[in-house]
Amino acid sequence: MSRLVMKFGGTSVANIERIRNVALHVKREAEAGNQVAVVVSAMAGKTDELVAWCSEAAPLHNGPEYDAVVASGEQVTAGLLAIVLEEIGIPARSWQGWQIPILTTDAHGSARIESIDGGEIVRRMERYGEVAVVAGFQGMHKETGRLTTLGRGGSDTSAVAVAAAIHAERCDIYTDVDGVYTTDPRIVPRAKRMERIAFEEMLEMASLGAKVLQVRSVELAMVYKVPTYVRSSFDDPAAPGAGTLICSEEDIVEQPVVSGIAFSRDEAQITLRRVADKPGVAAGIFGPLAEANINVDMIIQVVSDDTTTTDLTFTVGTADYERARNILESRRGQIGYADMQGQTEVVKVSAIGIGMRSHAGVAARAFRALAEKGINIRAITTSEIKFSVLIDEAYTELAVRTLHSLYGLDRAA
Ligand code: ASP
Ligand code: MG
Repeated sequence: MSRLVMKFGGTSVANIERIRNVALHVKREAEAGNQVAVVVSAMAGKTDELVAWCSEAAPLHNGPEYDAVVASGEQVTAGLLAIVLEEIGIPARSWQGWQIPILTTDAHGSARIESIDGGEIVRRMERYGEVAVVAGFQGMHKETGRLTTLGRGGSDTSAVAVAAAIHAERCDIYTDVDGVYTTDPRIVPRAKRMERIAFEEMLEMASLGAKVLQVRSVELAMVYKVPTYVRSSFDDPAAPGAGTLICSEEDIVEQPVVSGIAFSRDEAQITLRRVADKPGVAAGIFGPLAEANINVDMIIQVVSDDTTTTDLTFTVGTADYERARNILESRRGQIGYADMQGQTEVVKVSAIGIGMRSHAGVAARAFRALAEKGINIRAITTSEIKFSVLIDEAYTELAVRTLHSLYGLDRAA
């Protein structure tokens, strides 16, 4: 007998019929003798609607009330699934975040889980064989007693955290795709489903644009070593397909040099021309951005012709672009630059693989291949298991396809 967490995303619980289908997946695992905790998202589109209602009610609404509103979507699906499970003879009860409790920080709208008491859930599994149906995405801040939410996509994180708290053998994330692909199959039809991917690689894939899982959930899975399985809720509940297992790298036998290609259109580039080339200038630029909670990603600095000034290019998320420009504009005097230029039509394409640690020249091959296609690289960053290039957005598909076949990831036709 094993203990499992099964998580179902918004499209999997989009209506009552789909919730019935989810119940059949749960039934299969429960009848196989497993102790099961289920974590659910809100019905597809529900959270967007709730978020929009908050903005309509008041553009600058307060954080705790926003959370009170948006957390409600998960309360509904947790209750509905428990009802449907009971109806087909599986003992179940719903749990809201605060009832467990799942305690979080008070960063409303993007709170982090601090602790989960899984004791009562486990006791009831053992004593009554009861399935715990947990509302994802929500928690509570202990000191204020207020509801919190974990940021968009946060139910994945709820699921992995519950799995760690109840010492589950595995966390199964059921979604509308049947696993993690070498890249987005909508861009590269010959992308392959991976059998396995290492935690570190998945963390990079998710951080660099792959949208399957919330980044924080992968971090937690890695820290607590929770084997996490991404699989489809649209498979026949009686005969589910394989999915992708996210696991420790030791559990992966054949490790390709590059495992996947990710891309993110959520990038904007800012260039400051003729910045004084003297100590303290970088701090003068990036300090205020950091204080404003703006994440700077790629940075390149080039010495210009006159040697006393330099050009500085860096990227920020699209959502922070205007804010970053305003901050730099207001400090133009202190920083001292001649001109600021910006570009939002850029995309970051990344190749990820723990095999890069032991192979030289992996990125160099990509630069050559992209050049042959006439794709200009605006910026580059590398780390131990990935490299990223910033290019014009118009070349996204060409670049992703080029790298995908360059590293032998295309599925045989
Ligand atoms: N319902 C929330 C959202 O749409 C959380 C989740 O689905 O993971 O972001
Ligand atoms: Mg999701």
